[in-house]
Amino acid sequence: MPNEPTINPFETARKQVDIVADVLGLDPGVREILKSPKRTLTVCFPVRMDDGQYRVFTGYRCQYNMARGPTKGGIRYHPQVTLDEVRALAAWMTWKCAVVNLPYGGGKGGIVCDPKGMSRGELERMTRRFASEIAPIIGPEMDIPAPDVYTDSQTMAWIMDTYSMQRGYSVPGVVTGKPIALGGSEGRGEATGRGCAYVIREAAGDAGVKVKGGTVAVQGFGNAGSVAAHILQAEQGAKIVAVSDSKGGIYRPEGLNVPDVEAHKRKTGSVVGFPGAQTISNEQVLETKADILIPAALENQITKKNAERIQAKIVAEAANGPTVPEADEILYQRKIAVLPDILANAGGVTVSYFEWAQDIQGYFWDLVDVNKRLERVMVQSYEQVHKAALDHKVNNRTGAYVLAIQRVVDAIRIRGIYP
Ligand code: NAD
Repeated sequence: MPNEPTINPFETARKQVDIVADVLGLDPGVREILKSPKRTLTVCFPVRMDDGQYRVFTGYRCQYNMARGPTKGGIRYHPQVTLDEVRALAAWMTWKCAVVNLPYGGGKGGIVCDPKGMSRGELERMTRRFASEIAPIIGPEMDIPAPDVYTDSQTMAWIMDTYSMQRGYSVPGVVTGKPIALGGSEGRGEATGRGCAYVIREAAGDAGVKVKGGTVAVQGFGNAGSVAAHILQAEQGAKIVAVSDSKGGIYRPEGLNVPDVEAHKRKTGSVVGFPGAQTISNEQVLETKADILIPAALENQITKKNAERIQAKIVAEAANGPTVPEADEILYQRKIAVLPDILANAGGVTVSYFEWAQDIQGYFWDLVDVNKRLERVMVQSYEQVHKAALDHKVNNRTGAYVLAIQRVVDAIRIRGIYP
């Protein structure tokens, strides 16, 4: 946004720790541990481009906190990747893994690059060289990367293969989000949306909403958003009245048939133009009259400018960071239940954990088993977050942070400080 002061995400992440540390009454030493990334590696490495020239790329891998286990988090490819962004994302992964009680710390990585302007061969060579540069600090017992913005299961396959070549044997547990053929998990593709739908179901009673027959609006009909919509409609009987993507939104008060909208998007590249639906703007999707709103696209979508106009009783954050702090406060005052990102979209990392657990056991589960275990984790985590929020008289977001940070603090305290 022009003229907006640039917010340093790592400063934001550090401030969040301070807010929760005040609620928990943590002493200054523990606070400082929680605000400090344990280990960050910066690498600069050359890649041979298709035109025969060499280009030097910069990449990062941050392992924020390992008190609860190996670090876990994605690798993103983007021109605007910065060290502080990677550190902030690694901190948020630490809290997300702790909220759903996975035996993991948090990590994140990235390469400063423009993947859209690179050939497949260039991407493969860059990925393999980066994997080899960070190989000394990753591994199934140390740090387990995964896909993030502009990386996918193919990227993970290249990292797994590069790491395995160096070890001399296959190490599928070094990354998650792999293709099934290389030790990926059933259900990983839809885990984020499915987990979000489970959390909505659990929260509905507390928020005075009936999902069956209730109405839903979804901003961002991508992986997370379309799957959440699909499951809410097919398994919980909700009516999806509005959805959008980067090209705009559609609205149909009688309900949209999600598989048909998916087919239309596959055919035309957008949900816009879906027969029988009105075209609306992305802003209107957020303000649609619906019981449940699922922001599943970008960060900073619900701001103090539109928070007063949100009509939903539940806002389930499938996206990371869709609500700015001032808007959060307005929604809380208006008694709108916000299901915070670190809980609502933790289904993805949960099934990533299942993938890693299956890889290191060498024993694979079927889809029914994966989904049952995911449901158990999401239901229990919602209950614990909601209880923490009520106990501390704070909103669900602070409740989730309180629960997560308390778990990390417990691990730090029980382990003690070495030496
Ligand atoms: P995706 O690329 O599959 O989908 C994003 C969707 O948002 C696309 O349909 C895109 O057209 C739409 N979009 C982009 N700009 C928009 C705009 N201005 N208004 C409305 N829609 C817009 O991505 P995804 O994997 O579904 O991720 C979406 C969000 O969920 C991100 O914030 C991501 O960090 C978060 N998330 C995803 C996962 C996962 O496993 N996929 C896990 C955790 C969090």
